Amino acid sequence: MSLRELYQEIIVDHGKNPRHFGKLNDANHTHAGHNPLCGDKLIIYVTEKNNVIEDITFEGSGCAISVASASLMAEAVKGRTVAEAQTLFDLFHHLVTEGKEPTVSIGKLTAFAGVAEFPVRVKCATLSWHTLKAALANNPNPVTTE
Ligand code: ZN
Repeated sequence: MSLRELYQEIIVDHGKNPRHFGKLNDANHTHAGHNPLCGDKLIIYVTEKNNVIEDITFEGSGCAISVASASLMAEAVKGRTVAEAQTLFDLFHHLVTEGKEPTVSIGKLTAFAGVAEFPVRVKCATLSWHTLKAALANNPNPVTTE
């Protein structure tokens, strides 16, 4: 199996069977995000304590890329500090816009490298991350990629 096929498989798997899917009842940060270009809609729930993301879930619907991205993001940032999550977002954003794999490992998030070839999909891949950022910042406005 080529690396490209492996990446594709990770995205299809998480798109079909998203992890951390559902509502988080003790969340202290909640935020909605919308990508009108594709129709992706999600809500991010975060339980944050002393700057650590203790738990994170999401609900919503959208294309496989947006759902897989939210699922893999939740896996990647759970247990991390807010600052570490921001660093991951910066690396991930660079990956999906430039297609260059970062010099530090970002684990399964690397599966999104191919998105850089499809600029219209960048918004699908980054919606959950923008929404997480707004949730942690307690931004009162809903996130929209437009
Ligand atoms: Zn989408």
